[in-house]
Amino acid sequence: THFGYQTVDVEDKQKKVADVFHSVAAKYDLMNDVMSMGIHRLWKRFTIEMSGVRPGHKVLDLAGGTGDLAAKFADKVGDSGQVILADINQSMLNVGRDKLIDNGYGNKVQFAQVNAEALPFEDNSFDIITIAFGLRNVTHKEKALSSMLRILKPGGRLLVLEFSKPEQPWLSKVYDTYSFSLLPAMGKLLVNDSDSYKYLAESIRMHPDQDSLKQMMLQAGFDEVEYHNMTGGIVALHRGFKF
Ligand code: SAM
Repeated sequence: THFGYQTVDVEDKQKKVADVFHSVAAKYDLMNDVMSMGIHRLWKRFTIEMSGVRPGHKVLDLAGGTGDLAAKFADKVGDSGQVILADINQSMLNVGRDKLIDNGYGNKVQFAQVNAEALPFEDNSFDIITIAFGLRNVTHKEKALSSMLRILKPGGRLLVLEFSKPEQPWLSKVYDTYSFSLLPAMGKLLVNDSDSYKYLAESIRMHPDQDSLKQMMLQAGFDEVEYHNMTGGIVALHRGFKF
């Protein structure tokens, strides 16, 4: 049946996502730097700027992986603030925790293994939630967005950093060639894993474009949703508030 088919699809996706991140965890940071030519650092810096983080804030870095954003937030929230790095994948969390402890963030960041679709946190408890390059991997995005809205404090904000749709057709073409040919080849060369990077390219193509994601956030109940394109729309930062 149609529904039977869909169920298989959903399980497939969850398993695929788990396999991909178990497989890439150890080399994730290296690959990020190589594949984005370091530019992911700028995208993340802009995300921190747009978050409006202040001392005392309670921040959730969801799908936080190896903790780039969590560490930056920890520098800003001070002793009265709190940062939680949350991810569904044990391998990514392990790499993130080791890195953050090595860099002196052991007491400043807490770690939680969670599914974005069913967040085990209290209602109205966070000032800021970020999900960077994570929403694309979540099977039920509507569920995840509702869950995030529930745990934000009134006045709190969600920032979604994600691959999106290039604004110019020529850039789209270059980018398609890059992601469907070069990315898997680099994956093969650097970490002997072209499949994971094929998944990456496919998941980027499937992800809703800027306006569709904005609509999804509005539908979920976020207010004043807006987005900022970066690198020609290859990446977009969406921001929405809970009022
Ligand atoms: N935020 C980090 C960054 O920007 O470098 C890591 C991004 S990584 C591409 C995507 C992360 O999303 C992985 O660590 C993966 O385990 C996590 N993830 C995928 N599905 C998830 C879910 N349903 N709930 C929580 N995390 C999830």
